[in-house]
Amino acid sequence: MVGSKVLETYLKENLQDLKSRGLYNVIDPVEGPNGPVINIAGRELINLSSNNYLGLATHPRLIDACIEATKKYGAGAGAVRTINGTLDIHVKLEEKLAQFKHTEAAIAYQSGFNCNMAAISAVMDKNDAILSDELNHASIIDGCRLSKAKIIRYNHSDMDDLRAKAKEAKESGLYKKIMVITDGVFSMDGDIAKLPDILEIAEEFDLITYVDDAHGSGVLGNGAGTVKHFGLSDRVDFQIGTLSKAIGVVGGYVAGKKDLIDWLKVRSRPFLFSTAVTPGAVAACIEAIDMLMNSSELINQLWENGNYLKKGLKNLGFDIGESETPITPCIIGDEVSTQEFSKKLYEAGVYAKAIVFPTVPRGTGRVRNMPTAAHTKEMLDKALDIYEKVGKEMGII
Ligand SMILES: *Cc1c(COP(=O)(O)O)cnc(C)c1O
Repeated sequence: MVGSKVLETYLKENLQDLKSRGLYNVIDPVEGPNGPVINIAGRELINLSSNNYLGLATHPRLIDACIEATKKYGAGAGAVRTINGTLDIHVKLEEKLAQFKHTEAAIAYQSGFNCNMAAISAVMDKNDAILSDELNHASIIDGCRLSKAKIIRYNHSDMDDLRAKAKEAKESGLYKKIMVITDGVFSMDGDIAKLPDILEIAEEFDLITYVDDAHGSGVLGNGAGTVKHFGLSDRVDFQIGTLSKAIGVVGGYVAGKKDLIDWLKVRSRPFLFSTAVTPGAVAACIEAIDMLMNSSELINQLWENGNYLKKGLKNLGFDIGESETPITPCIIGDEVSTQEFSKKLYEAGVYAKAIVFPTVPRGTGRVRNMPTAAHTKEMLDKALDIYEKVGKEMGII
């Protein structure tokens, strides 16, 4: 096999370029469960990088539910949802999700990313426009592009800018439908979208509303998410969530009115053309949602741990940005120092990933900490000691 010379040159040059600028991400395989402490390359590290907010990924009740369903239904669902891959537990999961989100109905997908590929282009097309927060998640951006609608970016959480652009789009008469789309919680900074203001603007200019609450579900609104947190459950058209973060398994969903969900079941392409989520994953998700609907213990523990870590880092003198959720960035600045800081934390026993351009704007590189309900105070104290040592060593604090 010789292969394409053009491709070979393209890859060599671009990989080299990323590496020389400190932008090449190296993947470290985790040897065992992704819990509050992980093993990498034979070493034990305090894990501050997972999205496993509530520790549910390794919870015995989810593991048991997964095993039982796997024994009963098999390892795979066997087909796409619209042929005969819809098992009774897929339907049960969707009913639970609607209850959990306080909506008429819900539809589940294979991932949150997939969900944005599915839902946006099922209703928006080239005759439409989408107002999109400039810091929206990559899957929202790709989902918008796929729809071929005109994408109008507004400045991050800037309501004057959103209002002006909504007014201009509406008054231009160029578009049949206009949507406003936002993350519920912004994953790199941990700030919450200004949903009450967004809804007011949406109602004034007749916008379709779409909130992707991947980082808010299981965290805010007693678990139901950012929309519930603001008491807006009956006013948001699309409530997107993921089953891969706080819920601890894998999958994504849209919760909304019955007509919307019925439409998505016949028009969203990943639902029609990609195999249904495995029975084990579905059963584990149902178990997780049951747990959240019956107790706020894990959510309270998550917030307590988040506040503890934030206070600790702030007292040490780190710049932790403006987070309003357990997401705790530690902003370093330039890309190379950020990578170095993360590497030194790793060597000292803390796994906190560097997040740099293009995931965040250039010059705002950060180490992002994701405390979970499963961390103990001892683990957090140990992490803070390591932060202090490395921060002083590098002259950051
Ligand atoms: C993480 C994330 C997703 C992707 O969810 P997965 O279930 O991991 O595919 C989608 N949207 C937002 C806003 C996210 O933060």
